[in-house]
Amino acid sequence: MSAPRIVRTRAALARYLRDRAPDGTIPDSRDHGLALAVPRAYLDLIDWADPNDPLWRQVMPDHREGTILPEELVDPIGDGTHSPVRGIVHRYRDRALMLPTATCAVHCRFCFRREFVGRPEGNLRPDDLDAAFAYLAAHPEIWEVILSGGDVLVLGAARLGEILTRLRAISSVRVIRVHSRVPAVDPCLVTEAIAARLRAAAPLVVVVHVNHPREVSAEFTGAVSRLIDRGIPVLSQTVLLRGVNDDVTVLDALCRRLVETRVIPYQLHHPDLARGTSHFRLSIARGRRIVRELRRGLSGIANPTYVVDLPGGSGKVPADGSHVLPTGSGYAVVREYTRGRSARSRASEGGGRRSGAHRTDIKLSGEPASPTLT
Ligand code: SF4
Repeated sequence: MSAPRIVRTRAALARYLRDRAPDGTIPDSRDHGLALAVPRAYLDLIDWADPNDPLWRQVMPDHREGTILPEELVDPIGDGTHSPVRGIVHRYRDRALMLPTATCAVHCRFCFRREFVGRPEGNLRPDDLDAAFAYLAAHPEIWEVILSGGDVLVLGAARLGEILTRLRAISSVRVIRVHSRVPAVDPCLVTEAIAARLRAAAPLVVVVHVNHPREVSAEFTGAVSRLIDRGIPVLSQTVLLRGVNDDVTVLDALCRRLVETRVIPYQLHHPDLARGTSHFRLSIARGRRIVRELRRGLSGIANPTYVVDLPGGSGKVPADGSHVLPTGSGYAVVREYTRGRSARSRASEGGGRRSGAHRTDIKLSGEPASPTLT
């Protein structure tokens, strides 16, 4: 019996490994709250001769996930704080996140929503969906809706098409954005039918999540080409991960390969304070050094913006020296701009201001801030 299309058990993984890595051991069978789930297409990209393979590291449960640091959070970017109804996160005034499903094609071990993904109770029921669409319709300030999850590209063309049609029926929603890791981990799910549904909902932008140059496979190129050839803009998002891509050479290769496949590198994310993920994190200081070096050698069109999503739900800020500063105590002082935050947050601050700044002490890494953080 061969391994299933999505490998979800230790036994299925052992079956897959039998031919590829006969002496390969499966290091840890505990899932630490996030079940194993890896498409065979992604397993095929792994170098089984390398025990520290960066792709393997992203998907295989690790005993270090059992170590929970005091600063780590169940909801690291504060989705719950900004969720007025199930499945909607309204953090910024003119943008809302819609999470129709908790299902993903893959379970990434560093996931910032690891306490949410893969749990059936996270999927929106029909009445939840009705309430989510009603919220969007009742808030004409929402110009852009970002479909995330979970991963809506696993829903199939018919269900995704239904969601897109309902979004398009809300005249104040002008732009739709879809975030997905599917093109990198299970590219065959980006079917012609899905691409056609996405095109029909234009203006719509797809942001693909890609963390390593080896994920930019021939199949990935085929999947994004099905979108780009239809006129759908495709950008990329990458999480900066220790032991995966915290290396200028790796990031340089990734960004170049993305541009060569007509994908524009958009954001490089500092890893979030998700529970049990400290082995993936690096300091902001180190991240900045890597990004400075990357900028030196890479064309401007290939350079992503390095950002950090503030713990607690205040939103994303550039992880550069004008926003994130050292304090010498393992904490960074963040200059956080009220512009773009949700109407609710601004109102609670005495509101209505469209700009202005305040400072917040937030610990951004499991590592102490480095004295070279300037
Ligand atoms: S695809 Fe995204 S949401 Fe799903 S497990 Fe990976 S990082 Fe988390």
